[in-house]
Amino acid sequence: MKENNSFDIAVLGGGPAGIMAAGRAAELGARVVLIEKNEILGKKLLITGKGRCNFTHNEFDIRKFTEKFGRNGRFLYSALSEFGVGEVIDFFKSRGVKGKVEQGDRIFPENGNAQDILNALVKYLAEGKVSILLNTEVVGFKQEKGKISQALLRSRQICADKFIICAGGKAYPQTGSTGEGYRWAEQLGHTVIAPVPALNPVKTSEDWVKELQGLSLKNVSLQLFQNNKKKDERFGEMLFTHFGVSGPIVMDMSKNIGALLKNGPVKLILDLKPALDFKKLDKRIQRDFEKFKGRMFKNSLKGLLPLSMIPVIIKLSGIEPEKQVDHLAREERNKLVHLLKELELTPTGLLGFKWSVVTSGGVALKEVDPNTMCSKKIGNLYFAGEILDLDGPSGGYNLQECWSTGYLAGGNAAKGN
Ligand SMILES: Cc1cc2nc3c(=O)[nH]c(=O)nc-3n(C[C@H](O)[C@H](O)[C@H](O)COP(=O)(O)OP(=O)(O)OC[C@H]3O[C@@H](n4cnc5c(N)ncnc54)[C@H](O)[C@@H]3O)c2cc1C
Repeated sequence: MKENNSFDIAVLGGGPAGIMAAGRAAELGARVVLIEKNEILGKKLLITGKGRCNFTHNEFDIRKFTEKFGRNGRFLYSALSEFGVGEVIDFFKSRGVKGKVEQGDRIFPENGNAQDILNALVKYLAEGKVSILLNTEVVGFKQEKGKISQALLRSRQICADKFIICAGGKAYPQTGSTGEGYRWAEQLGHTVIAPVPALNPVKTSEDWVKELQGLSLKNVSLQLFQNNKKKDERFGEMLFTHFGVSGPIVMDMSKNIGALLKNGPVKLILDLKPALDFKKLDKRIQRDFEKFKGRMFKNSLKGLLPLSMIPVIIKLSGIEPEKQVDHLAREERNKLVHLLKELELTPTGLLGFKWSVVTSGGVALKEVDPNTMCSKKIGNLYFAGEILDLDGPSGGYNLQECWSTGYLAGGNAAKGN
């Protein structure tokens, strides 16, 4: 029997990846300790999906799933083969949490509560009798003969045969993810690809966006340009904020925006009516204006635009708001069509890690075995979750990455691979 501070496996960080890794290792019979500096496990998990937790994505084709992570996605093949979307759905279902597919193939717990997901995970830890140390900060490691022998806490040490680092990234540091894991990884000889915010709201220079604060738009198209070259394009939902733009399609584009801004200015072109080309939209507007004959221009746009957007578009169009709508010149109508199809926004930067959903960058994948999650530098060290150089779009991809890599790391650490 090992002593109180001595375990088969020590898991550092009690987020989704760490909990899954600890639970899986314990399920295979290992004596496991899970160390978390917060007062609770899964602090970030509880705010995912606006408290509803979009815990995976309804995509069972591993190739298609991994493509969403860009070039690095290939790293996830083994992890998803062993513990993929189907296994995750079954895992939670078998612990009383049924998944429900919602818009955009996002899967949420049926009762719409992230706490249900955390409760199921805590049950998993209890089944394996995992020792949980809360309010306990890891401050470093002791190495002996090329291996880690101890995790150093503020006032004691934890000895273990294997160590799994799941300290997350730098996104949303108010939840505990303050990037310590990167520092440890570097101290232990790993390369860390510079972490940058991903899935981040975008600041824009236009003053009028403030007037639209809180307005959410569905089924719009957004294009990203630099030097007149199209760099990205997304279709779906976005949101105006007091500082710029946010919402799924903006967040998914933010990594590219941040990278391109380093080279020079970029433009966003918003198409409010992507289902209609310029000609069809012009015809539609002519029909509307015919219907509203005799009315003022400012009172004729209700069928075309959300209410809060009407004054902004009127101002940008330069058209006299009180002009009779059937007296609009062709050029004026063209200007309106152009605004609805090509509304320009100028990104000036990202909001930064504080409001970022995930981190791009992290522990270099070439130094981690994708079949086991074991470090190629230190034989008794494993990584899982956001600390790895992996980031996917919004939609449940990032949590799935944590479940899959956590499960693989915990399993292999327990099996001695
Ligand atoms: C607002 C928001 C909404 C999100 N919504 C979704 C969603 O709906 N679907 C989705 O797929 N993804 C979502 N994500 C992303 C998802 O939350 C992350 O991908 C996931 O939490 C990463 O898990 P992790 O275990 O790797 O790291 P984390 O969740 O960051 O957990 C790491 C843990 O390690 C602990 N730790 C760090 N340093 C130390 C230390 N020195 N000592 C002890 N403990 C330490 C931290 O306190 C933390 O609890 C969202 C993220 C945010 C911020």
